[in-house]
Amino acid sequence: MTGPSSLRLSAARCCAALIVFALCACGIGGARAGCLDVKDPAFVRLRPLIDQDPKKALTMVNGLLARLPANAASSEPRRLAALYALQAGAYGTLSFDNFSRASALKGLALLHDPTDPLRLVLLSNYAYSFNEPAGINKALTLVKGARAAQKSGSRSDLCLEIVQGTLNQLRARPDLAIGELTRAYLQSNTPSLAEPRMEAASTLALVLERMDDFDQALALIRQVIRWDTSQGSTADIGIDVYLQGKILTTMGHFREAIASFKRARDISLAQGDHQGVAYADLRICQSRIGLGQFVPARRDCERAAQVLAQGRATETVKEARALLARIDLAEGRATRALSGLDRVLDHGGKDLLARDVAPTYLARAQANASLHHYRNAYRDLQHYVHLYAAQNRSYRVRLQEALEVRFHARQEIRRNAVLQRKLQVAAQHAARQSQQLRWIEIASIAGTVAMALLSYILFTATRHRRQLLRLASEDPLTGAPNRGHTAQLAMSALESALAHHWPLTVALIDFDHFKDINDRCGHAAGDHVLKEFARLARGALRATDVLGRWGGEEFLLVLPDTTLDTALSSIERLRLLALGISIPASDRPQALSRVTFSAGLATTAEGAATLDEIVARADAALYEAKNAGRNLVRIDRESSHNPTLGPGQPC
Ligand code: GH3
Ligand code: MG
Ligand code: MG
Repeated sequence: MTGPSSLRLSAARCCAALIVFALCACGIGGARAGCLDVKDPAFVRLRPLIDQDPKKALTMVNGLLARLPANAASSEPRRLAALYALQAGAYGTLSFDNFSRASALKGLALLHDPTDPLRLVLLSNYAYSFNEPAGINKALTLVKGARAAQKSGSRSDLCLEIVQGTLNQLRARPDLAIGELTRAYLQSNTPSLAEPRMEAASTLALVLERMDDFDQALALIRQVIRWDTSQGSTADIGIDVYLQGKILTTMGHFREAIASFKRARDISLAQGDHQGVAYADLRICQSRIGLGQFVPARRDCERAAQVLAQGRATETVKEARALLARIDLAEGRATRALSGLDRVLDHGGKDLLARDVAPTYLARAQANASLHHYRNAYRDLQHYVHLYAAQNRSYRVRLQEALEVRFHARQEIRRNAVLQRKLQVAAQHAARQSQQLRWIEIASIAGTVAMALLSYILFTATRHRRQLLRLASEDPLTGAPNRGHTAQLAMSALESALAHHWPLTVALIDFDHFKDINDRCGHAAGDHVLKEFARLARGALRATDVLGRWGGEEFLLVLPDTTLDTALSSIERLRLLALGISIPASDRPQALSRVTFSAGLATTAEGAATLDEIVARADAALYEAKNAGRNLVRIDRESSHNPTLGPGQPC
């Protein structure tokens, strides 16, 4: 639901439940149409009409439902579910909560995929159809359950987190709501998640306004207005400027508030939304009272009261009457003010917006005092003080909780900003190196991608942070250093070797006929060989040796401070270990009894070299080993004048 009318109607629902917060951003799939990405054609076509004219939308949807065949539940379940989602949305907008819930339930019974966005829209409809604490708690449990089935940080997860935050606000837990909405806002910081981000921003603005954080609320809602303006979403701008006006009124910026409400009024007028116009008039009246402009204020309030009286929101009609009584009081018409306020308080304030009750008693105390009814004035004043103290107490507790949550959120943002800066510096460093060394480029790209991924997920959890740091350097299959990391380790080993005139030997190892292993025994068997090889090699090499996965079934072995002879014996150890790997699930075990590899060796012993030169030489030697029949080790010609056969003889 997205017009000022939806604000009004949601507010009405919330208030009927005696919930302090006039939360307006509820509705199908949230305030903005696009939070959940539903693609069903009927839904996409009719969804906007619910904001513009919910009654017409309902008539059309009911007509379409009537025309569906009797067996639609089995022949066209998705279309039927989409129509139920529309019906639930239209009923919700019209405040027929029970009907909305019934439609949502019918739709939910038709869809079973827990990640289906249409199902999640129906779930939101269902969740927003409650207006009393027990129902809201039940809805909250369902929404949390639904979130567990979504990928963390996905669009659906974020939209559901916004619903969760909204429900928490409705059950007077702004501390939780602020945490959830802030998280959803921060996590949706990519262009493809603009809708959830804007939805989180507008809902958060409402909550922050209620917690007196006007500057933040205003900044958020202005961001939303800019975005909606860029998208040309007139209906949404109607809501945004209305909210902006509310925040400005609470801040005491009445002139700017009036300008906002006038804009909201124009949009409602253009849409033929008379209730929306009345709401804007009511707020303009309230701001004019703040400016002491009582004559135009009376005109606006009377016009609003007349239209609102035709609707269902009693508390809003009463709000208009209370404002008119305040105008009477300010203009010296105490008798009229008193009778107006008596009517407003005829149920002891139970049918008023919670935040209006105390000020209304205060106004009646003033009216009574003007008429010298001191006993009544004293009674009203006692009521006022009692209500004010109670409200203030719970408000202070909530404010403290909310501040705490926001403090932690800010800390996290700050921590992430520092980490992000560090990651940027690291990325720049890697980029510089990449200009000099081509293979480092591969490392830096992998690193940068991992870093971007890392910086995004850093928002979610410390656990993920650790995993990702590993991800950036480790090959997930074998647990060996990945190519980028191997390159870095090899580079620093080479630098030390050159600085201290130590020999450094590298070997490129490539498994023989690996395709055959995959083809005959399956890819899982191939994976098993690679994993086992890496595991066994870890136990057979020195702590300073590096065996990294260079690509596919190819490994780079880096042996610091190692001559060719010692390197050959290391390779021989690995060769024997590979031979001992048994291949699981082979349908022809006898044909694949051995795992062998070929290797090419190169060393710095003969003089200085760059790492890519040494690796290229090892690669050339490997090529020779393959050509000479496989299961062989060849030493690069420059490394040894005698390109001896290595330890591996053809089996
Ligand atoms: P050669 O003796 O000439 O090296 O023969 P080969 O079959 O090993 O040929 P090549 O090196 O060209 O092919 C490597 C094969 O290794 C191809 C690819 O399907 C397989 N491979 C690469 N990475 C993986 C992996 O992670 N798991 C599995 N199971 N197979 C892999
Ligand atoms: Mg290969
Ligand atoms: Mg191979």
